[in-house]
Amino acid sequence: MVLSMKKRSATDFDLVELEALLLSTGIEKYRGRQIFEWLYGKGVAAFEGMTNIPARVARRLREAGIEPVGSVVERRVCAKDAAEKSAARLADGSVTEFVLIRHGRRNTLCLSTQVGCAVGCVFCASGSRGFVRNLTAGEIADQYAHALGSLQAGERISNIVVMGMGEPMLNLDAVLGAVERLHASWGANIGLNRITISTVGYVDAMRRLAGSRLATNLAISLHAPTDDMRRLLIPHGPAVSVGELVNAGVEYSRTTGKDVSVEYVAIGGVNCQPAHARSLAKLLRRTGIKANIIPFNPWRPAEPQRDGPSSVKARAVSETGQEGVEKGRVSGAEPDAVVLKRPSVAEVTAFHRELERRGIPATIRASRGGDVAAACGQLALRTPPRA
Ligand code: SAH
Ligand code: SF4
Repeated sequence: MVLSMKKRSATDFDLVELEALLLSTGIEKYRGRQIFEWLYGKGVAAFEGMTNIPARVARRLREAGIEPVGSVVERRVCAKDAAEKSAARLADGSVTEFVLIRHGRRNTLCLSTQVGCAVGCVFCASGSRGFVRNLTAGEIADQYAHALGSLQAGERISNIVVMGMGEPMLNLDAVLGAVERLHASWGANIGLNRITISTVGYVDAMRRLAGSRLATNLAISLHAPTDDMRRLLIPHGPAVSVGELVNAGVEYSRTTGKDVSVEYVAIGGVNCQPAHARSLAKLLRRTGIKANIIPFNPWRPAEPQRDGPSSVKARAVSETGQEGVEKGRVSGAEPDAVVLKRPSVAEVTAFHRELERRGIPATIRASRGGDVAAACGQLALRTPPRA
């Protein structure tokens, strides 16, 4: 009989669990803190680099099927604007990604929570491939260890945004497990005020997060001031109106005292006309919620794989395509294709100014890493899965 042993990683465990495992394999309990110090304090992701972990401990853990992390960084691409994007291969062959955005001393790490995404926002590369699977807490924490290990001397990760591939509220247990690893003193020891989770708006899960001891800042991906426009951009999103969603954001900030903002991907000729700014301002007035405008970053679908999903093709996005989106369709284009384009600088500036004139604090976020496909889900899309 062949016994197959499930491989696990140290990042799959919290401290109590790892200590219990160590004791059960005859290893001193204090090795748990040491291993986590290497992983979450120094970004050393191999036993060989953990200089105070004796070879016999590493050997025994390996015999028990435990490695420090469960993924390997396969590709790392640096953009001109200091965004560094990495694709990591998971144990089952699928691919996830994380992005390190350097801005002086404040480096921000963007983490993924799923492979693909079931929500399928029309402008998003992650959604274009459909949902593959949830990441585990360990696989999310791995991304932090890998990113930490890639830093130069003197650099640090000061902020975390959970804005990579996937919808965090549809994988909340694992996301909470990852936040625990990032926040705990035995983990990365990062304050909850320096972590922001982005969601397309699953309000029950938002309430669960608010009620947990791990409530972070929250970014709500709104993208539209009306329900009709929102349905066009997020056709399979949560059944919640824009009004209810903003109210849920206000409730979240009251319950937790954390920052709440809305994200607004500005798509050329679609959702960022002055009239949209006026209705968005009405929606956000007196809520204390600020707006983050993200100019749409056009992406190209990966080369269709021989047996690959046809949906990638159907969602082709073109920067130079016809203008205007009407009921989710563009006349003359293939039936499922929505043609979206980057907004002009003038469009975005006018939208921003209109919001600020109406008393809504707003910023324009540079969509970094466009030249290396570094926006949400774009590198993983180009790194084919392997069985
Ligand atoms: N699922 C979550 C978190 C991941 S997406 C959410 O939707 O909030 C994180 C952000 O990236 C979202 O605000 C999303 O709108 C934005 N985004 C996705 N694709 C983009 C693109 N092509 N250009 C600009 N922003 C994009
Ligand atoms: Fe999913 Fe967020 Fe992309 Fe929408 S924007 S498809 S919710 S990852």
